[in-house]
Amino acid sequence: MLKKILSIFVILSISSSALIFSACKENVVEDSSRAYSISATLAEDVGVLSCEMNLVYDYFGENSVSGLLFYNYANNFRDDNKGVEIKSVYCDGKQVGFSEKGEKGTLLEIPLVHELFFGDRVDVTINYELKLPVGMDILGMTDKEIRLSGWYPTLCPRYMDQWVEIESAPWGDSLFSDVSDYEVRLSVPKYMVVASSGKRVSTVESGERITYAYEIDNARDFALSISKDYKTLSGTVDGVLISAYGYEEEWAEQALNYAKRALSFFSDRYCSYPHSTYSVAQTELNAGGMEFSGLVYVSAKGEELEEVVAHETAHQWWYGVVGSNPTEYAWLDEGLAEYSTLEYIGESRGIVVREKIVDDTYRAYISVCQVEHSLSGRGDIPMTQKSKDFRSQYEYVTVTYLKGKLFYENLKEISGKSLFDKALKRYCTTFYMKTATPQDLKECFSEYCNINYSAVFTAWEEGRVVFCEQ
Ligand SMILES: [Zn+2]
Repeated sequence: MLKKILSIFVILSISSSALIFSACKENVVEDSSRAYSISATLAEDVGVLSCEMNLVYDYFGENSVSGLLFYNYANNFRDDNKGVEIKSVYCDGKQVGFSEKGEKGTLLEIPLVHELFFGDRVDVTINYELKLPVGMDILGMTDKEIRLSGWYPTLCPRYMDQWVEIESAPWGDSLFSDVSDYEVRLSVPKYMVVASSGKRVSTVESGERITYAYEIDNARDFALSISKDYKTLSGTVDGVLISAYGYEEEWAEQALNYAKRALSFFSDRYCSYPHSTYSVAQTELNAGGMEFSGLVYVSAKGEELEEVVAHETAHQWWYGVVGSNPTEYAWLDEGLAEYSTLEYIGESRGIVVREKIVDDTYRAYISVCQVEHSLSGRGDIPMTQKSKDFRSQYEYVTVTYLKGKLFYENLKEISGKSLFDKALKRYCTTFYMKTATPQDLKECFSEYCNINYSAVFTAWEEGRVVFCEQ
C-alpha cells in the first residue's frame, strides 16, 4: 500500500492574514428565466436536422441589455462543412439580422428590437439547419447512432450581469448554461428509438414517421441519442423513471441497476434529484461518458461500466444541480464527480477498494509530478486554468480528474468527514440550480470549520502542493 505524505506548500503570511469566514451564500443577483421550445425534423439518411427554436427570455438583471449572445457548439465542426446554417431570426415578431463571432462562429449575437430592462421579456425565434458531423463527438453520427447535444444555439450564461463568452477548447467540456425549461418535439422515422433528456409527453404517428414531444424544467441542456438498435429497460427509484438504452439487453440491465443505485445514493447524500426521468444511453462516444440534464451517454462496458455510470450520474448534481464553468475551472465539477464516484464505490464495493483507488490515484499523479519536475522544475500543476491552456489532453485529464479527486479527498481529511459532508451538502443546497465558483465552494467550507481554507484552496488551485511518496 502506498503511504503518502501530503503537505501544503503555502507561505505563512497567506495562512495568517487571509482567513476568510464569509458566509456560504448565493452570489448570483440575476434570476432571469429561459424557456426553449424546439421543433426538429431529422433526415437521418443525409444527416440533416431542420429546426425551429423559440426562446422566451424574462430578464431580471441590473444593467440593460441590447443584444443576446448564444453559444453555437455545433459550429466547432465547421471545418468539415458541418454545423449550423441560420435561415432566419425573429425578435418579438420582427425579422432581425445576426452576427457570428469567433474563429468558427461559435458565438452568435442577435440584436434586440427593444433594449431589455429588469422585468422585460423578449421572444426570439431562430430557424436553422444543422448538418451533422460524422464521428464520435458528443454531437455526431455513426452507423450505430445519432448523438444530439449542443445541437441548438444556447443562450450564454449570465454572470455578474454580463454574458459569459464560452471559449471552446480542443479538450474538455464546453457546454455551459443557466438552467432553462424545455419543450422539444422531434420527428424521426418510425423505426428509430430515441433516448432523451426530459419526460416524453406525447407520441404522434404519421405515415412512416413519428413525432415525440418532451418536457423538462430546470435543465442545463436538452440532449438525445437516437438509434434503430436500442433495447430499452426501465425501472423506478424514489419516484424517478430510470431508463437504460443499450445495444445488448445485458448492457441495458447492468446500466439500469448501476444508475438506480447511483441515483439513490447521491440523492441521499446531497439533495433530491430534480427531474422525473433519468436515462442512460449506450453510445460510441470517444470518451467513457458524457453528462447532460436527465440523460447521460456511456460508451464504457464490462468492469468500467459501474464507475462510469456512477461518475456521469454524479454530474446530475455537479453540473445539473450546481452549475459551474467547465472551460474556466473544470476541476470544480469533474473533481467532485470523481470524488462522489469514489464515495459510491466505497459503499458499493467496500473501503478496501476505495482506499486502493485513492492510492492508485496518488501514485499516478505523483509520477506525473515527477516528470513535470524533471521537465520544468515545478512539482505540481495548477488546477485552475482555462481548459484551452492545458498543454495536452493528457494534462487536462490528469489535473482536472485525478488531481481534482485528490483535492476533495484532502479537503475531507483536513475537515473531518462529518464537517466535509455537511459543507458539501450546504454547497449543493445553496447553489441549487445556480452557478458556483471555487470561491463559493471555499466559503461553504469556511462556514463550518476554523481552518484556513484560503491557503488550502490557493495551494491546490495554483499548483503549490508537495506530493511525496514513502
Ligand atoms: Zn465528468
